Amino acid sequence: MISNSPKSIKTKPFNKKVIKDAIVRHLHCSLGTDENKANNHAWWKATCAAVQEQVLEQVRKTQKSHYLNDTRAVHYFSAEFLMGRLMSNNLHNLGLFELTEMALRELGISIVDIMEEESDMALGNGGLGRLAACFIDSLATLDYPAIGYGLHYENGLFRQEIKNGKQIERPDSWRDYGNPWEICRPESIQEIPLYGFVETKYDANGKIEKEWHPGSIVKGLPWDIPIVGYGGKTVNILRLWQSQASGYFNWDVFNAGGYVDAQKETVQAETISKVLYPNDETQAGKELRLIQQYFFSACSLKDIIRRYKRANGDDWKRFTSQVVIQLNDTHPAIAIPELMRILVDRAKLEWEQAWEICTNTFAYTNHTLLPEALEKWPVSMVAKILPRHLEIIYEINRRFMIEVEKIWPGDDKKKQKLSVIEEGHEKMVCMGNLSVIGSFAVNGVAEVHSSLVKKSLFPEFHQIWPRKLTNVTNGITPRRWLKVCNPKLAKLIDKNIGEDWPLHLDKLQQLTNLAEDQKFQKQFMKIKYDNKVSLTKEILNLTAIKVDPKAIFDVQIKRLHEYKRQHLNLLHIMALYHRLLENPDYKMHPRVFIFGAKAAPGYALAKDIIYGINQVAQKVNNDPRINNKIKVIFLPNYRVSLAEKVIPAADVSEQISTAGKEASGTGNMKLSLNGALTIGTLDGANIEIAEEVGTENIFIFGLTVDEVRDLDENGYNPFDYYKTNSELKAILDWLDTDFFTPGKPGALASIKQSLLAGGDPYKVLADFDAYSKAQAKVDAAYGDKTTWAKMAILNTARMGKFTSDRAIEEYVDKIWKLQKCSVE
Ligand SMILES: *Cc1c(COP(=O)(O)O)cnc(C)c1O
Repeated sequence: MISNSPKSIKTKPFNKKVIKDAIVRHLHCSLGTDENKANNHAWWKATCAAVQEQVLEQVRKTQKSHYLNDTRAVHYFSAEFLMGRLMSNNLHNLGLFELTEMALRELGISIVDIMEEESDMALGNGGLGRLAACFIDSLATLDYPAIGYGLHYENGLFRQEIKNGKQIERPDSWRDYGNPWEICRPESIQEIPLYGFVETKYDANGKIEKEWHPGSIVKGLPWDIPIVGYGGKTVNILRLWQSQASGYFNWDVFNAGGYVDAQKETVQAETISKVLYPNDETQAGKELRLIQQYFFSACSLKDIIRRYKRANGDDWKRFTSQVVIQLNDTHPAIAIPELMRILVDRAKLEWEQAWEICTNTFAYTNHTLLPEALEKWPVSMVAKILPRHLEIIYEINRRFMIEVEKIWPGDDKKKQKLSVIEEGHEKMVCMGNLSVIGSFAVNGVAEVHSSLVKKSLFPEFHQIWPRKLTNVTNGITPRRWLKVCNPKLAKLIDKNIGEDWPLHLDKLQQLTNLAEDQKFQKQFMKIKYDNKVSLTKEILNLTAIKVDPKAIFDVQIKRLHEYKRQHLNLLHIMALYHRLLENPDYKMHPRVFIFGAKAAPGYALAKDIIYGINQVAQKVNNDPRINNKIKVIFLPNYRVSLAEKVIPAADVSEQISTAGKEASGTGNMKLSLNGALTIGTLDGANIEIAEEVGTENIFIFGLTVDEVRDLDENGYNPFDYYKTNSELKAILDWLDTDFFTPGKPGALASIKQSLLAGGDPYKVLADFDAYSKAQAKVDAAYGDKTTWAKMAILNTARMGKFTSDRAIEEYVDKIWKLQKCSVE
C-alpha cells in the first residue's frame, strides 16, 4: 500500500506564498474586500475558499479513480452527521495547517481567531451523529469508496442559552453567513412522491401490478460536502438533501375525494428539511419525522441507482456486488421497502429476486436497547404518507411469518414478537424488526451491547440467523480528537514516537515505556496544565466564573439523560458540599465539576436537572465557607467545537450510566485518549476501555448489567437507601427546601421525586455509595502526582483500539467487503 504519511504532503508544490496569494485573491475576487477592510469573518471565508480549491481538485481525482476502477462502495445512510467545524480539520488532513498558520500570520491574522468564526455543522444530536462523522473521516483516510447520505437541515440542533439557571432553546441558523464547504448540485435533483393511493392493475398475462398515484411530489436538492481523508488523497463526499416544492399536486387524487384531505395532503415541501428533531434516545412519532426519513432515504436510493445504471444499464445482476448500504439505526429503514418498490413495481422483478437483492444490500447498526428509542410508526400514518410501502411491508411480513411458522409451528407468541406489525388498539410498524429481517448483517456498537442485542433484544432472530448479528465496537477519529484539538500533546507524541500515530493509533503503545519517565511525566502534565489554563479563560468568558487550573477538572459532557445520570454526579457534589459545611476541615483536593449538556426541549426532568446543576452551582460557587474547594460550571451550548476545548483539559472523565443502558459511548474514548482518567460503570465501551488501560488505571464502580437486571426482576426499593443513608437523606431533603432556589421551595423537588416515589428507574440511589467511594479514590489518587501522571499517560498510550480506523476496517472485513482505491 502507498502510505499517506504526512511527509509525502510536504513534497506537494504548496508553499506559504502560494497559500498567501490564494487567500488574498479570494479576499479580493470572491469577497470583494481587501486586506485593510476585511474583518475576521472575511479572512475566515477567504481562507476556506483557498483551502477548498485544493479540496475540490482531490474530489475530482477521487471520483475519477473510483469510476475508472469500477469500485464497490459503501453508502452510509444517517439522519444525523455531527460534523462540527471543518477548517482546522481539513487543513490538518491536507497537511497544510502550519503553512497556512504562517501565511496568515504574515498577513497579520491569527488562525486561531478566524477559526472561531466558523459555525459548527450541528446536524446531529449526540453520539450517533458524531459516530457518522468519525466514520466518514476514517473511510476517506483509509481510501475506501464511500458516500455519506443525510439531510441538509436548515436548522441543526438548537443553540442552548442558560437564563436564570434554565435552558432556553434558540434556532441554530448555521448557514446564515453561508457555508464555504458545500457545493450545490442542481443537476442531480430528485423527485420524491408522497401520499396518494395505490391502483391495482393486471398486465397482459393477467399478473397483478401495483401503481402508486402520489398526492404530491417534493424535490430533493443535493448539497455535497467534501470529506478530506488524512493525508489529503482520497476526498469522499457527504451528500445532504434539501427539500423544495415541486409545484406538483395531483388534482385527480384531490377530486377523487375520500383519500385526501387537501389541507393535509399539500405537503409544505420546504418544511421537510427545515429542522433536526432534537430528541436523543427517544423517538418523536411525528408525521414530519417519518417524511424526513423517507425523503432522504428515497433521494439517496435514486441517486445510487442512477449512478449504477449509468455503468450497468438495466441489468440488476451486479447491484449487490457494487452497492452496500449501512443503516445508521432504524431512521433510514424505510429504504428497505423503498428498494423493494423500485425493484418490483418499477423494474418489474419477481418478488423473490427483488428480496434477494434487498437482503444483500442493507446492513443495520443498532444503537440502543432503550424501549423509548425503538422506532414504531402507526400503521395509519404509514398508510397515509406511503400507501404502497405499507403494502410491501405487509407482504414482507406475511412471507416472514410463514418462515417463523416453519421454525416454531403454532407458536403465536413468537409470531407476535417477531412480526413487523404490532397488534393493539393502534397497530404499529416496528422498524427494528423490519431492519433485521431486511438486512444481511446487524451489529451492536460495543461488546456488552451486542451481546445484549443477541440475548435480550433479538434472541429469536439470533436463533434463526446465528451469523447475522455481530459486534463492531465504536471508535473515534484520532485526527480531530487528538491531533487537531490537542496540538501540544500531539507534538509531544510526535517527538517521542514519530509522526505516524494518527494513522496507526496502536503505536501510542510506545508511550508505555515513558509512563514512569520523570521528564516525560513532567512534559505530559505541563501540557495538561496549559490546556487547563486555556479552558479556565474560556470558562471565564462563557460564565464569568473564575476557576483555579490547579484544581481537578472533572468533566461530564454529553446529552442530558436520566440514563447517563448527571444527577448522580450532582448528588455527589451536594454530598461533598454537605461534608464541607459539617466539617470545614474535610480533606479534599479542590475540584472543578464541569458539565456540558443539552436536554431535549420536551424532556421536563432533563431540563430540571440542568436547572438543578445551575442552582447548586450558584450556591456552592458563592459560599465563602467552603474556601473554593468546589466549583460547579455548566458550560452552555455543548457542541463539537466546545468538546474540542474541554477534552484536552480534563483530568477526570465521568462515564456513569446505569449498566446496560449506554450502548457504547464515544465521549469516554475521546477523554481517555487525551489523558483523562475515567470514573465509570461497567457499561458500553467502558468495559473495553478498562480491559485496554488496565483496571488499575480506571475507577470502576457500581452495579453490573446482571445486578441491575436482578434488581429489576426482584423488586427495587429506592426508599431503602434513603432511609439508611443519612447523608443521602439530607441532600435529597435539600431539594424540597429553597436552599438552592431562594424563595422557591421545592423548585427542584421533581429530581427527588423521580428518585423515590418515581421508583428510580436508573438506580441512582443504588449506586450512590459506590460512586461516592470511587470519587474518594479519585481524590486520593490525584494527591500522588507521579502515580496520576503515570495513569494518565497509560490511558493515552493504550487507546489504540478505539480509533475509528479500526472500527471501519472491522466493518469492511465483516460486512462491507470493500477494496481500497488509491487516488493520484
Ligand atoms: C462525542 C460527542 C458526543 C457523545 O458523547 P457520549 O459521552 O458518548 O454520550 C455527544 N456530543 C458531542 C458534541 C460529541 O462530540
